[in-house]
Parts: sequence; C-alpha cells; structure tokens
Amino acid sequence: MNRVYNFSAGPSMLPLEVLQRAAAEMLDCNGTGQSVMEMSHRSKAFEPIIANTEALLRELMGIPAHYKVLFLQGGASLQFSMVPLNLKKTGKAAFFDTGVWAGKAIKEAKKWMTVDIVASSKDKNYTYIPKVAKVEGDYDYVHVTSNNTIFGTKMNAFPDTGTIPLVCDASSNILSEAMDVSKFGIIYAGAQKNLAPAGVTVVIIREDLIRGPNNAAAGDLPADVPTMLRYDTHADEGSMFNTPPCYSIYVMGLVLEYVKKMGGVPAMATLNNQKAKILYDFLDSSSFFKATTAKEDRSLMNIPFVTTIDNKEQAEAVNKKFVSKAAKAGLVNLAGHRLVGGMRASIYNAMPVEGVKALVAFMKKFEEENK
Ligand SMILES: *Cc1c(COP(=O)(O)O)cnc(C)c1O
Repeated sequence: MNRVYNFSAGPSMLPLEVLQRAAAEMLDCNGTGQSVMEMSHRSKAFEPIIANTEALLRELMGIPAHYKVLFLQGGASLQFSMVPLNLKKTGKAAFFDTGVWAGKAIKEAKKWMTVDIVASSKDKNYTYIPKVAKVEGDYDYVHVTSNNTIFGTKMNAFPDTGTIPLVCDASSNILSEAMDVSKFGIIYAGAQKNLAPAGVTVVIIREDLIRGPNNAAAGDLPADVPTMLRYDTHADEGSMFNTPPCYSIYVMGLVLEYVKKMGGVPAMATLNNQKAKILYDFLDSSSFFKATTAKEDRSLMNIPFVTTIDNKEQAEAVNKKFVSKAAKAGLVNLAGHRLVGGMRASIYNAMPVEGVKALVAFMKKFEEENK
C-alpha cells in the first residue's frame, strides 16, 4: 500500500485509523451483519450511529443545549439559499465579502434579500480580512466566512452584531480550533474538509431561528418555502425527514471519536498551529517561494504560495513543474486556484505533521534546483 500526502482543498484526507476502522466495519458493523451503507436509516442499528455523531460534535464543539444540530444534504452551497429563505423578515442582510465562497453566498442571498456589503477585501484580491468591530442596522442576519478556502485567510475576530443573528460558513475550518458557538445564530459547514466524506452538511442553529410548526412561537415562515429547504422540517424530525446521508454521518462519528482520542479541539488547534508554522516559516525565509496573504490573517488550513519569479510565463512553467514533481514524490493536489495562481497546500486536521515536513523538504530541494 502506498498512501500519498493529499493537499487537496476538498474532499481531503481522512485520518488513516478512521479509514482502517471503516474498512474493518465495512461488511459487519457492530455485529449487525451489514454495512452502514445498507442499513435502514430508521433501524435500531442506525439510531445509535447518528446519535453518537451528534453527541460527539456537541461535546467537542461545546454546543449549548438551545442549539439544534442538523445533518443535511446539498452542501454548504445549499445553505447560501436556505439561510435567506428561513431568516428573511425585513429582507435586509449584511455580508462580509472575503472571497469566492462569500461571493457565492452573496449572489444567492440577493435573490431574496437586499444585501449590504459591510466589509470587503476585494481591493487587494482578498489577501486579508477587513476588520469591522460592530455591525448595526435592521438586518435579519450578518453573514461571515470564518476561513476563506481559496484565498487562504481566516477571521480571528468576529464582529459584535448585538441582537442580529451572526451566520457563519465554517466549511473549511470547523473543528480546527475553538469556536464559541454561543456567539452565532447559525454555523454551517460542508463536511468534506474537516469532518467526513462529502455528502453531509452540518448546520448548528439556535432554536429561536427555527421558524415553523414545533417551534410555534416563531412559526411565521412563509408557506411557499419548499419543505426540504425549511429548517423546521429537519429539526422536527431529527434530520430524518427523508433519508439522511447515513454513511457520511457514520464516518463523521469515527472522525469525531478520533479527534476526541487525540485530545479534542484544543489538541487539533495546537497541531494545526504547529503545521502551519512549519510551512509559513519556510515561506517567509525563502527567497524563491512566498506566501500570498497578510500575516495577521493567515489561514491554518489553506496555504497559498507563489514563486518570486517575475516573468509570468516562466513562473507558470515552474508552477507546473513543481506540481508534477511533487506528485511524483507522493505530495499530491498542490496546484493553486486560478484566482491566486501558484500553489496551495490544504492542511486540514487529518494532515499529519510529517506531511507538512515532507512538503517543506521537497520545496527546499526544488528551490535549490530551480533558483
Ligand atoms: C468548500 C466550501 C464551500 C462549498 O461547499 P459544498 O459542500 O461543496 O457546497 C462553501 N464554503 C466554503 C468556505 C468552502 O470551503
């Protein structure tokens, strides 16, 4: 077996021991004589699996009791529409424009809302996080992206929004370091970066934002919101209104057990800081490579970098050579996003320290050979 270090932005690596356990339980999970893929989602066999995943997520993230945890489909991208559809009252929302995903969320919200961009880093190709301490106004919600996967920046402080619900797309850094859930109205995340295989989206939502039948006090949601796009549909049925993505929920449970065994979110944060420091320290000391982002806003998860070669054609040829030589050395998916150029190393929770060390060793050698 020859495993590679996979620096993909997503789907991304899963911890080896999680894959091994999933493999061992593939044909017979918990003595049921079936794989999780074959189980009825309403069976006695699956019930403890989804309950375990939710309980572990609550424990690891410290999710307060008055928040619901939903396991949905449609990716983080569907939340770009579900949030406005479910939260719209006055019809105004405030957005932080910090990158491509924020831009997509804005574009979608504009179908239903008047959107105010209260902060943007577009002026410098999203290489930093605009600092806004407070947002006020008659907004139904304020939307932020905690980690910008493509540009490689992270919000280290969230705005004070008073009583306005703060909604956060945490797809690419959920569970990478501590997050005070009580500061947010909704946190959502596609699972395929830090939590699980693709197919499940986690939505952590404060109960008073769920407007509909069982939460009748707030039951003023317009009747034309499609059933599958209403938070109350899923909250009232424990994410079992229809068939949930059972296997992804099961693997998420295994990932969360692994995170807990490793020491929980604080241990992940320590490791993630250590890994990112190894790579940023090298980038800052190199005369051949450099990071593209403002130091104080750097992501721990997604690290874009370029060469210092000025000539564009020459730089692109070297980028290509880097990506293909790295792949041959077992370091795969290092091509940068076309909007940033160069390379990008995504080093989520499951990337071992050894993987980052191997990348830096490769970069040092490449620099020697190509400078
Ligand atoms: C990957 C990503 C998305 C898109 O997630 P899907 O689950 O593919 O819809 C949205 N936002 C951020 C910040 C991401 O990193």
